[in-house]
Amino acid sequence: MSATVTDSAIILSRVPWREADKRVVFFTRNHGKIDGVAVGAHKIKSKLAGHLEPLRAVDVMVAEGRQGYKIAQCMTYHNFVDVEPDISRVRCMGILVRFVKHVTEFGHSDPELYDMLFRGLALMQATEISELEGNFGQSLMNLAVHFGYAPTFDRCMLCRSEENLSRFSPEHGGMICTAEKVFEKTFIFNGFSPQIVVEHLKWRGLV
Ligand SMILES: [Zn+2]
Repeated sequence: MSATVTDSAIILSRVPWREADKRVVFFTRNHGKIDGVAVGAHKIKSKLAGHLEPLRAVDVMVAEGRQGYKIAQCMTYHNFVDVEPDISRVRCMGILVRFVKHVTEFGHSDPELYDMLFRGLALMQATEISELEGNFGQSLMNLAVHFGYAPTFDRCMLCRSEENLSRFSPEHGGMICTAEKVFEKTFIFNGFSPQIVVEHLKWRGLV
């Protein structure tokens, strides 16, 4: 007897696997991150293949086998990537998804995170392009806060001073005041920007 899991999921990644298979990582709403193999997904006739692209929300059924999960069914219920996608939107979505993939553990259920990621991706798809960067920064920051990786903006990471904060240090995960000698890479801080959160997470190998 093999167990099956049926759930809603966001596809985080898909890579070739063995000769003709694909390995897909899902973030499911109720079962957390799981990975499954789509057998023969390279074949053009595979009905599954079109539903296994990243940046889709799907209804998926996987069956437990001797070597992990096999994908039995997968049906798209929302595609976050438009037919003629704007590359900057897709880039923002890719960072949100990579962060969730890196920071979550397999099998750890977190429906609140599922909803947060879904909202973030839907916002990246629908927002005015002029507001994309700002909304992306906020969505990434929401996820960073959720996982306890939020950078510190209100005090110096070295002396705790709340004044003369001029630079952001990804290495220290927060601000550095003008009194400090720093040798690591820092960024001039002109207020909150998505790039700063990205650099903060990049330094930690999370995006
Ligand atoms: Zn300081």
